[in-house]
Amino acid sequence: MESRHIFSYSEARQEFNYSPITSTLSRIRVRFAPSPTGYLHVGGLRTALYNYLFARKQNGTFILRIEDTDRSRYVEHAEENLIEALKWAGLVWDEGPDCGGPKAPYRQSERLALYREHALKLVDQGNAYYAFDTADELEEMRKEQEQMRLPVKYDRRALKLSAAEVDAKLAAGVPHVIRMKVPDLTTVTFDDIVRGKVEFASEQIDDQVLLKSDGFPTYHLANVVDDHLMEVSHVIRGEEWLSSTPKHVLLYQYFGWELPQFAHLPLLLNPDKSKLSKRQGDVAVEDYRAKGYLPEALVNFVALLGWNPGDERELFSLHELVNEFSIERVGKSGAVFNLEKLNWMNAEHLRKKSDAEILRLLKNELKQSEFKDATFSDEYLVKVIGAMRERVSFVKDFVEKSPYFFRRPKQFDPDVVKKRWKPESSGYLKSLTQEFSSLTNPNKEEYEAALHRTAQSLNVGNGQLIHPLRLAVSGTGSGPGLYDILFIIGKEETIKRIELAIEKIK
Ligand code: GLU
Repeated sequence: MESRHIFSYSEARQEFNYSPITSTLSRIRVRFAPSPTGYLHVGGLRTALYNYLFARKQNGTFILRIEDTDRSRYVEHAEENLIEALKWAGLVWDEGPDCGGPKAPYRQSERLALYREHALKLVDQGNAYYAFDTADELEEMRKEQEQMRLPVKYDRRALKLSAAEVDAKLAAGVPHVIRMKVPDLTTVTFDDIVRGKVEFASEQIDDQVLLKSDGFPTYHLANVVDDHLMEVSHVIRGEEWLSSTPKHVLLYQYFGWELPQFAHLPLLLNPDKSKLSKRQGDVAVEDYRAKGYLPEALVNFVALLGWNPGDERELFSLHELVNEFSIERVGKSGAVFNLEKLNWMNAEHLRKKSDAEILRLLKNELKQSEFKDATFSDEYLVKVIGAMRERVSFVKDFVEKSPYFFRRPKQFDPDVVKKRWKPESSGYLKSLTQEFSSLTNPNKEEYEAALHRTAQSLNVGNGQLIHPLRLAVSGTGSGPGLYDILFIIGKEETIKRIELAIEKIK
């Protein structure tokens, strides 16, 4: 295809809307294309999720492509971390660097020859050109433009070189880049599923470097070449890439390729409406994981950052999201990251789990806690889960809110002691241990009846026993049902704890 003459550099402003009829991209193929910069940002998780949901809903293909062509940003293990975080979230891709696929390789650093070939094709067509400027020269140019309050962009000085001069420099091995030639006086427009018709004036578009002097492509070239070669039908990505899209649209046109459909997802915002940043909280998926958030909760939460089902529902499993999601319902306005909502969702997702599921998580949690060397039977832990499941938001809460199920109280909450422990409490509790001793294998009701009998014989209200007893067995003044605690820890332990409390609380 001869593209050289498409843009006549006339004074008349051109409207450029490149939208060839969709034909070959009728199959749904989407990709998540992270640059491995160290961790998976929650915004990245949302992009990955929307791509995943979009693909699954329509029996399409979800691709993971690693965009690792920026050597200056190379971080060791970043790709592994990324893959680990995505897998933790439950997102499964069909093609990718770890599982291969028909369009392999899926790591851009393994596709360098392809990018070079395509950059050279553009040079041949006249849609890109060699530039030999040094970093210092470019810096000086930038400063001058700033001083003159001109827009900072490449001034095309390299286009003044004759063909012979270019050849001589290339032959002499002078370091160079390849830049795309952006047409003058043209409005580039494209349709975005989220934002509708989007326009950029070509004056705003820099003659973007496509191939760097180290032989690596820039994001723009590699992204377009790969999206085309991998037959990506829909480019679903964050809004921060919107201003790059006109460059991409031009590249598609230069190559004579069909455009994918674009969907730019709204920004994620802090509660004060500033762009979501590390300074105001965690942004890495692995931070949330480390803090004990359930993957189901984080996925549910990010799903609603920019999308809604059209009604009041807020709780969704990944499977339900696949059924409900539609890219048409993604909104334009920024989505506020509300941590309280995430915490609420975590509690809801936790409560929905079966005892067996929570048991698995709790055992894991215990292994990482101060109780890692203690052993508790599954039967015991399931009882603890039953007593606490409505009172926890995180799995770690089982341990943090009710450590007394895993060890004797280390101390007794001084405020509760002050309020609830009377001079006569020790005596009352002693009578209670005698009553408890006579029971065999008591259930909750039997503990309760024994306490009532003791209160009656002491001629005091039940509360005179209940409050010091709770303090004695748990060290605190609140928690699940008192008789549940007694039943779970058992009679011997209950009596032992009462005796220790009498000794320690003076
Ligand atoms: N590598 C880009 C990123 O890190 C991909 C943007 C895109 O999806 O085109 O987000």
